[in-house]
Amino acid sequence: MNLAERDHNVIWHPYTQMKTAALPIPIVRGEGALLFSDDGKTYIDAVASWWVNLHGHAHPYIAQKVAEQLNTLEHVIFAGFTHPAAITFAERLLQILPKGQSRIFYSDNGSTAVEVAMKMAIQYWSNLGTPKRKIVAFRDSYHGDTFGAMAVSARSAFTAPFWSYLFEVCFVDVPVPGEEEETIKQLEAYALAGDVAAFIYEPLVLGTAGMVMYTPQVLDRLLEVCQQHSILTIADEVMTGFGRTGRTFASDYLQHQPDIICMSKGLTGGTMALGATSASEKVYDAFLSDDKGKTLFHGHSYTGNPVACAAGLASMDLLLKQETQDCIKRIETRHAAFAASIKALPQVAQVRQQGTILAVEFADGTTSYFSDLRDTLYSYGLDHGVVLRPLGNIIYIIPPYCITDTQLDQVYQVIRGMQQIVSGDKSYPRPDQTTLHD
Ligand SMILES: *Cc1c(COP(=O)(O)O)cnc(C)c1O
Repeated sequence: MNLAERDHNVIWHPYTQMKTAALPIPIVRGEGALLFSDDGKTYIDAVASWWVNLHGHAHPYIAQKVAEQLNTLEHVIFAGFTHPAAITFAERLLQILPKGQSRIFYSDNGSTAVEVAMKMAIQYWSNLGTPKRKIVAFRDSYHGDTFGAMAVSARSAFTAPFWSYLFEVCFVDVPVPGEEEETIKQLEAYALAGDVAAFIYEPLVLGTAGMVMYTPQVLDRLLEVCQQHSILTIADEVMTGFGRTGRTFASDYLQHQPDIICMSKGLTGGTMALGATSASEKVYDAFLSDDKGKTLFHGHSYTGNPVACAAGLASMDLLLKQETQDCIKRIETRHAAFAASIKALPQVAQVRQQGTILAVEFADGTTSYFSDLRDTLYSYGLDHGVVLRPLGNIIYIIPPYCITDTQLDQVYQVIRGMQQIVSGDKSYPRPDQTTLHD
């Protein structure tokens, strides 16, 4: 049996209909923006392995730092104990986070970072003796797959079986260009009705919604409404953090800063699973008390894992290098040129860009994640050596910052090819049915 068949016998993959999905591609090695499969093929990782990878695969510097940490201290209970990597990482995170953040709470991934943020916000009001029940979120948002995170995320096909178990959330529309005033009105209405504990948002880019973008100006106005009505604000920077949007955090484009920030994905450069939730002094202070009931009773077995923190520190060293910052600028410039070259094509409904994130929305009308077009485009990319995971009719690039110009050109070329498929060019065959498992 080959690796893919052995996988198929024992593994249940995420976001995968195991009955109909093609066998997974076994990857045996990674280097830079490239992934190498067991059958000798090479793929450009244009989605940074689900938006996590910043500096390329198997980066030698991160590997060295992780190895050193593994040989020193692999893990220690994080209540009653601490260790140098967690302390240094928290200190350095606070130096690069938007102003106003003063404490770091570690967890394991983006969903848990969001759970922690919401528990902080809800308990904040409870600790102050003025409990508030409501949470405001964007209608199309995505904040993770655990129950609390699902509750504040879009009511989509992905979560339909759980809808009746999810707590009620006040949804406002995403303030895409032209819709700004409407969203502000909706938020003001909820704010005036009162009882709102927090507003959680993906700043500037809603990833899973299809790289939907809106301006810093309108977000600033929303945050202003929250401040006027004492609503806590939670920036979910899980995807947008660590240079993705062209600045270290998407919040760096804003005048108003959030009370709480969620981080994961790029937090360790894509090396280790780690989540972090930062809080302002105001939030933190509300938990200080002689009354033990006011404690934030939340934690995970691997909270503050030293190896993950070491990976985070190493990734931050690389991120802050001038060389990496230049790469981010280079990707931005090249994306913009590519966007300009395709935006007038009849098959292209819209091109959106924010920093290193580029999204091309094809004019096909098939927005469903479950559409055939999505599967065809996905297979087309793989057949041409590029990993791109379309969200329905939206194709996006979130590359590792080390991607070369030649590799970027190959990715752009594949997207041009996809545009021809959308335009009805039937010369490209449907996915090779022999690779589909039934
Ligand atoms: C991916 C993502 C999450 C969830 O992170 P996981 O590590 O997959 O649990 C939360 N919020 C946003 C904005 C994300 O993109």
